[in-house]
Amino acid sequence: MGIATINPATGETVKTFEPLSGEAIEAKLALAQQAFEQYRKTPMSQRAAWLKEAAEILERDKVSVGKVMTTEMGKTVQSAIAEAEKSAWVCRYYADNAAEFLADVPASTDATQSFVRYQPLGAILAVMPWNFPFWQVFRFAAPALMAGNVGLLKHASNVPQCALAIEDIFKQAGFPEGVFQTLLIGANQVEAVVNDWRVKAATLTGSEPAGASLAAAAGKQIKKTVLELGGSDPFIVLESADLEAAVSTAVTARMLNNGQSCIAAKRFIVEDAIADEFERRLVEKFQALKVGDPMDENTDVGPLATPGILQDLDGLVQICIEKGSKVLIGGKALSDRPGNFYPPTILSDFPAGTPADKEEFFGPVALLFRVPDIDAAIKRANAIPFGLGASAWTTDEEQIHRLVDEIEAGAVFINGLVKSDPRLPFGGIKRSGYGRELGIQGIHEFVNIKTVWIK
Ligand code: NAP
Repeated sequence: MGIATINPATGETVKTFEPLSGEAIEAKLALAQQAFEQYRKTPMSQRAAWLKEAAEILERDKVSVGKVMTTEMGKTVQSAIAEAEKSAWVCRYYADNAAEFLADVPASTDATQSFVRYQPLGAILAVMPWNFPFWQVFRFAAPALMAGNVGLLKHASNVPQCALAIEDIFKQAGFPEGVFQTLLIGANQVEAVVNDWRVKAATLTGSEPAGASLAAAAGKQIKKTVLELGGSDPFIVLESADLEAAVSTAVTARMLNNGQSCIAAKRFIVEDAIADEFERRLVEKFQALKVGDPMDENTDVGPLATPGILQDLDGLVQICIEKGSKVLIGGKALSDRPGNFYPPTILSDFPAGTPADKEEFFGPVALLFRVPDIDAAIKRANAIPFGLGASAWTTDEEQIHRLVDEIEAGAVFINGLVKSDPRLPFGGIKRSGYGRELGIQGIHEFVNIKTVWIK
């Protein structure tokens, strides 16, 4: 697939783009380096003022940029507008806090004076996914630019207009030319960019194969990477839970972004004592969801982003069914309309060896597991190669402690939805990746942590 806007709700090719030539990439890398040499000297207060202006623009233009997101990747327009607002939030968060996060840290040693100073590295490459086409980019860019780095964005090939709109927002906000640039390039052009001496580090949010490929290329060049990869997050519901709150949140947690979120709840692990009731209410709520045009404000679930995502998802569902899993609702692509529509689906009863054991179901498909007790719930939750987030529901203090301690994931949310928040670090363990975005930890990923010792 080339670089193009293809409306997932209709299948229509709206606009195509030529990938940058080798010379055009060279010019952008040269500009990035030139920009960095000046930009690293700009005062933090100036960077913060530009970033706050970017936040203003995001809020001012949230409806128009929201429609660009919806047209390119199919998320419902209300969620796209909310994404523009959340992107403004992360800009303000780092504009307000970066000076404190990056202040010198004194240390008492045998020196007259010793401290740690955080300094920028240079151009950082961000390879980003289409699923949160603004949020993913801003959560990389806000801390990176506040730290004095310059950003290079290789966005997913199906969201080129989002990629260009983001570059334009940074320009309009006043950041000097070259501080944030979009590279319209295919995945096969990434390695050459990573290899270039002016690129100092890279981050990728996306699938495991893409992450492994970028990390291998960067590893050969001894360049640091942060990887935010897939997940198959558990959503554990134990007997003492507030069942209505758990079921309502389960629906939101699974259907977020038409089911295409790394931290969407994907495996629902429910204690036997309440499993029948949980299942009954979940089916009822899934039945009530309105699938349709993502531009329509009444739509709950829009199309999947590409025909490939739909095929992959349906492939996993069909294998589960062939191997004997039960379909409680949905289970087959909607063929009565154009576009990449998949119905809300719930599968249960998985014999050993189905994809439910180890695959990420990237779409509106819930996998329902019944377990006898908390031991089995934790065992099931951890029996997956991923470790991104986990949501667990119980009112028992003892159980809360166990879940917090024993779940293998980058985040555990008790009695709530797993979500990203600028104030908290975000990232995974196991095959979900390494490194952290957001919070104070996120801004420390792409800096030189310089030890200073003076006598
Ligand atoms: P993807 O196919 O891996 O694409 C992500 C980005 O990587 C795109 O820009 C893509 O470019 C690029 N890419 C693909 N193969 C590459 C390669 N070999 N070398 C360098 N770059 C490459 O993933 P996706 O399907 O868009 O996104 C879905 C996945 O992202 C899911 O697994 C989801 O869980 C994960 N995700 C994780 C997080 C997190 O924070 N942990 C957040 C969101 C999504 P092209 O588009 O040009 O191929």
